[in-house]
Amino acid sequence: MTFRLAAAALAVLLLCAAPGLAGSLLATWRGPDGREYLGKWPDGIVPWVYNPAGAPEGLRDEALVTGLLREAMGQWEGVCGVRFEYRGGSDAPVWKSVPGTLLVGWGGGRGDGAAAEAGPAWAATPSEIAARGYLPFTDARVRLARLFDWEGGSDAHTASRTLAVLVHEIGHVIGLGHSDDPWSVMFASPYTNLLYPRADDAATVQRLYGPPEKPGGIPRYAPPPQGALRASGVRFAREGARHEPLAALPGPEAAGREPVGLRFALQDAPAGTIEVVLVDPSGVFHSGQAFPHPGGTVEGLVGLLPADALASLPGTWTAYVLFDGKSAGAAELRTGRGE
Ligand SMILES: [Zn+2]
Repeated sequence: MTFRLAAAALAVLLLCAAPGLAGSLLATWRGPDGREYLGKWPDGIVPWVYNPAGAPEGLRDEALVTGLLREAMGQWEGVCGVRFEYRGGSDAPVWKSVPGTLLVGWGGGRGDGAAAEAGPAWAATPSEIAARGYLPFTDARVRLARLFDWEGGSDAHTASRTLAVLVHEIGHVIGLGHSDDPWSVMFASPYTNLLYPRADDAATVQRLYGPPEKPGGIPRYAPPPQGALRASGVRFAREGARHEPLAALPGPEAAGREPVGLRFALQDAPAGTIEVVLVDPSGVFHSGQAFPHPGGTVEGLVGLLPADALASLPGTWTAYVLFDGKSAGAAELRTGRGE
């Protein structure tokens, strides 16, 4: 007899995985004997396919999305012994399952603004489970929400936003739940959109798949040298009506959910490209946005993250304004419970 839990039900389980429990990052599922088990891909190999049908405007390019998926998967390969194998395109609808395979595709969304949901399914007899000691995953799905706002004003922002979502969802696919450590890509209250698995993620996922074949590193961001053009009034600011400047945020509970952006002005700039780069308090690239500038004076505010997401990672955030690849200014924002 084969026991099987629908992936949709698992996805719900994963999305609700016990917040507040220390060390709760590994997801568990109830086996046929009523006991809780970890789940993983047998042999650590995850074959995958991608169905581009229904992709939203900025993500219609199939090569772009599969490239981002490879990047997200590569980051997990860099911290544990899991391996992903691309098996090409697929026309399987994302509510179906492809046996033995991870299916990534697009669906309408859950109506609560979530970017995606993901979950593995497993199948085994009680004696197989007893012999293995874990639930063997047989297939999985990542359903990306077509209705989510993937666009952030530039291709670079769309790509980094999408990558952050994919790294988190692939974590679910290989057996992780949500972490209660904000310095984890599996943290979800609120989502901090980190681009790389961190210490908590790496240590936990290695309990399932062992150490990586080729350990990856997390690159620290080094700003480019100062250019001739200087931005003025560079500061973090709340996105509310008055763009109130912000030098510090209290802890996440008190910070509020209002979006925070970077305010700056460039006087008489030539035509070129303006970039805004956000670097997290550990010095790692968080996200980037690029805007073509037709020339002239520009003054404005570029959205970064909600206040509570920034506040959940304590320390000093830095945002850089770049013009044609050279530094034009920077601002800092202190966050933490002590503020
Ligand atoms: Zn999640």
